[in-house]
Amino acid sequence: MDVIKKDLKELKKRLDKAGISFEDKIVLITGGAGFLGSWLCDILVEQNAKVLCLDNLLSGKLENIKHHLNKENFTFIEHDISKPIDIDKKVDIIFHFASRASPLEFDKFPIQILKANTLGTWITLGIAKKHRARYIFASTSEVYGDAQVIPTPESYNGNVNPLGIRGCYDESKRCGEAFVMAYHRQHSLDTRIVRIFNTYGPRMRAEGYYGRVVPRFISQALSNKPLTVFGTGEQTRSFTYVIDEIEGILRLAFFDNLSGEVVNIGNNEETKIIDLANLIIKLTNSSSGIEFHPLPKDDPRRRCPDISKAVKLLGWKPTIKLEEGLKRTIKWFKSS
Ligand code: UDP
Repeated sequence: MDVIKKDLKELKKRLDKAGISFEDKIVLITGGAGFLGSWLCDILVEQNAKVLCLDNLLSGKLENIKHHLNKENFTFIEHDISKPIDIDKKVDIIFHFASRASPLEFDKFPIQILKANTLGTWITLGIAKKHRARYIFASTSEVYGDAQVIPTPESYNGNVNPLGIRGCYDESKRCGEAFVMAYHRQHSLDTRIVRIFNTYGPRMRAEGYYGRVVPRFISQALSNKPLTVFGTGEQTRSFTYVIDEIEGILRLAFFDNLSGEVVNIGNNEETKIIDLANLIIKLTNSSSGIEFHPLPKDDPRRRCPDISKAVKLLGWKPTIKLEEGLKRTIKWFKSS
């Protein structure tokens, strides 16, 4: 069985066990053809929700959702969510997940990123208001910037450079959060904000320049090319395997009485980038060496979530260790 099918089976089992079902719910997913969006589509289609998948296919790929296109409970809408759209069909839940998220794209598409997270958030909140739909906003650990408090709790207000290269992403996600809270307060909308930490797994884009660190290192290792470590590699990230992340997001979306909440969903095991590089070389049996490149500006030095709120509110914590998640991801990369 291929990696994605096996992972979906595992995820479905976990959700069933927790009594989490979106059966018959009408769910709008923006960025539905992207990495996380397509995993949401997969599991929600599987659970017999009625999925409206919206994407402009600029960074998302049709390939990620093409297996659903003929299904009766799946509709694809090709649209740029920073432009108005009228959704007539009654919607129960909205996941606003449309935005490029790779730092290597921040200097190339800053305006599109700003628009997706500000105008796109405003437009989707308008749709939520019209249908009185529950609203889940994909926020990010980037709202904390170069955090001075590690592990970082939701109460930390951040240390962000609005003028820097990452400002288009960090500040637009922060603005998105402010939009969400405004609609929650002013229109009593049922909203939930998920702060997503570095997530990896099958379907992450590996294409050369644009990939995030995990798919880049894996594709470099598999082709026996040097792994491009930025800086000394002493900087840290905390990596969450995709089905752990999706499970946390769906728990936040499902339970009642979470309106207005913001929750970190990420792994609380911190990893140095140099250690990640060496682990990937080992797991792929690669002959690659390591090549050091300059550290991009404003690259956060450490990142690790405090997940005590997720544990308490959602009964969630990640279960897949980095080595196991990397093995699955490497297997998928080899077969795709
Ligand atoms: N990184 C790296 N080599 C690469 C790509 C990224 O050393 O080829 C580093 C990057 O500088 C950062 C970390 O890996 O410290 C995670 O980068 P990513 O682009 O995945 O996302 P970020 O967490 O910075 O948003």
